[in-house]
Amino acid sequence: MSGAGDEQGGSLAADLHIQATYRLTEALVASEQRMKRRIELLAEVVFEADAAGLLVFLNQAWTRALGHPADGCLGRPLRDFVLSPDREALDRLQAGEPGEAGGVRPRLRFARASGGVAWMEISLSRLADGGAVGVLHDVTVVKQSEDELKKLSLVASSTDNLVIIADRDGRTEWVNEAFYRRTGYTLDDMRGRTPGSVLQGPGSDPRSIAILRQAIAEGRSQATELLNYTKAGTPYWVRVQLSPIRDETGAVQRFVSVQADVTEQRRVQGEIEAAKDRAEYLAAEAQAANQAKSEFLAVLSHEIRTPMNAVLGFAAVLQDTLLDEDQRDCVNTIARSGRSLLEIINEILDYSKIESGEFRLELQPADVRQCVSDAVELCRPPADRLLRLEVEINPAVPRTIVTDAGRLRQVLVNLVGNAVKFTASGRVRVLVGLAPPVGPAGRRVTFAVEDTGIGIAAKDLERIFAPFSQVDSSTTRKFGGTGLGLAIARRIVRSMGGEITVRSEPGQGSVFSFSLEAGAPVADGAARTVSRPPPARPLDPAAQALRILVVEDNDVNLKLTLRLLANLGLHADTAADGRQCLEACRERTYDLVFMDLRMPEMDGYEAAAELRRRAATDPRLAHLHICALTSNVMPAERDACLAAGMNGFLAKPVRAEELRTALERAAAALARGRAEV
Ligand code: ADP
Repeated sequence: MSGAGDEQGGSLAADLHIQATYRLTEALVASEQRMKRRIELLAEVVFEADAAGLLVFLNQAWTRALGHPADGCLGRPLRDFVLSPDREALDRLQAGEPGEAGGVRPRLRFARASGGVAWMEISLSRLADGGAVGVLHDVTVVKQSEDELKKLSLVASSTDNLVIIADRDGRTEWVNEAFYRRTGYTLDDMRGRTPGSVLQGPGSDPRSIAILRQAIAEGRSQATELLNYTKAGTPYWVRVQLSPIRDETGAVQRFVSVQADVTEQRRVQGEIEAAKDRAEYLAAEAQAANQAKSEFLAVLSHEIRTPMNAVLGFAAVLQDTLLDEDQRDCVNTIARSGRSLLEIINEILDYSKIESGEFRLELQPADVRQCVSDAVELCRPPADRLLRLEVEINPAVPRTIVTDAGRLRQVLVNLVGNAVKFTASGRVRVLVGLAPPVGPAGRRVTFAVEDTGIGIAAKDLERIFAPFSQVDSSTTRKFGGTGLGLAIARRIVRSMGGEITVRSEPGQGSVFSFSLEAGAPVADGAARTVSRPPPARPLDPAAQALRILVVEDNDVNLKLTLRLLANLGLHADTAADGRQCLEACRERTYDLVFMDLRMPEMDGYEAAAELRRRAATDPRLAHLHICALTSNVMPAERDACLAAGMNGFLAKPVRAEELRTALERAAAALARGRAEV
């Protein structure tokens, strides 16, 4: 037992102890409440569970996140609020070793009071007494965004296009496999960086980059082409399609950039363009070469025509003299061979004219029947050949059509000539008919040339229209020809809006046909038929009085012209070049000068121009008629003659009939000129 003093002392001590304990308790309670208030302020859910797993503490964030009142949940296991598929993960966590929360922070689905789901990242620490404290972090929004990205990337990973997914600021979140394969950059290389800062380099067009930046800033779609670089520094071209992805409120969440690799395409494009340039260059070169070729042919034909002029001319002169049978035969052969050589030259020249684009149609009303009969007469086979040549013209065919009669005749001569050439016996028929109108086009006159000759094999049918091509080169020897006729005929018919077609059966014969627009009907009187003057007509008296100068440097040609003039009863003075011509015109008075063009010292153009200049001071020259002698039928040469002041031209080899026409024309012009003064 203790004494009263002891009791007093004892109670005091107890008192003090109680007080101290009380204060301590108060302090502890205050501290705990302070702690709790702080915990209540946290955004994360803080919870504590006892050893049985029942909740003994929850802060207000619990209610904010899930909608359940915190107090009502105490005493229940945390497990109750986790969706069943995730409960096992929670159990594993709760069964773990006591200690600090480790690195593992699984995401678990919690049931919201509203019925929805909240994704919570959980971190948990086991306590020594078997209880646990933990924190839940609401990651629902992050999770949704990640799911969205996963969905996008799932779509994107299966394409061959390069795909970059970037956040709303344009920073890379994801790239697909194709991107890695093409660029060598992994997702880790790219993540958080803008694609441009990684991929673009010195050659990238700043304008295209600016366009893309602007689109990102404004949250809209944009397409452009860009030069990018791989990790190894290789440049490649992409066509970029940038598209914003929006959430349900319409706010831009991220961007998807799909890039098609167009490097190869651009390379091919570049090659195509280069090839085009090259083709244009080659075409220009070919054009120039063609031009050169036709000029060459013109010069060549001039050189050949000049001596031919003499051969044919003198043969004609000889034919008019007394000859014995043998001599006549020789002269006739010379004349025939000369003419066929001239024809070949003309064909080559004609073809080169068509080729060089110098070919022009002269459309005029023309008599169809006359054209056909002219052509047929030219091709008529000798009577001793067992070949009938017939013409059938449908009466409905109009008398006249608007066309180039000379060219139409040329085509017909070619087709009928071939038919006669390649048909040993039987019949050649020229059929002219009328095709009914097709659509808006008018009626067409149809031409067909049928023969019963050797025919043409199917494989050769197209080839024969190519220049210089003949079915069998041995036929060149047997039949002669240049292989140009059909090429020329086809082009002429095309230029007239038609097309030559052929049907043939080897051994049976061939049919060549084409058609021409009939055109508006023309009054019959308007048809111009070419009438040849009767051969023995005497020269117009006015022409007989002409004072003539022939300017020609080639002796043979000069002799021929003088001879033809003499045949018409005319005498002429001569000059050997332009200078001598001027001299002669100063000394004497002439009415007509026949002027060769190519001469030494001074050529015909220069001489003509000088004569025209002198006419201003010399009245004797005022009415001088100048007629060019030309072996070049190119329009350019004719234009040059007119430009030099000449009045007309005479094609070499000069023929008697044309010479006569030129003389009479000059006489008439002179009479008119004198009458006007
Ligand atoms: P060529 O001057 O050789 O006659 P063309 O161009 O007129 O040139 O004809 C080319 C070739 O087409 C001839 O060489 C011949 O082989 C063939 N040919 C043309 N017309 C006929 C035809 N009526 N019958 C058989 N073959 C033909």
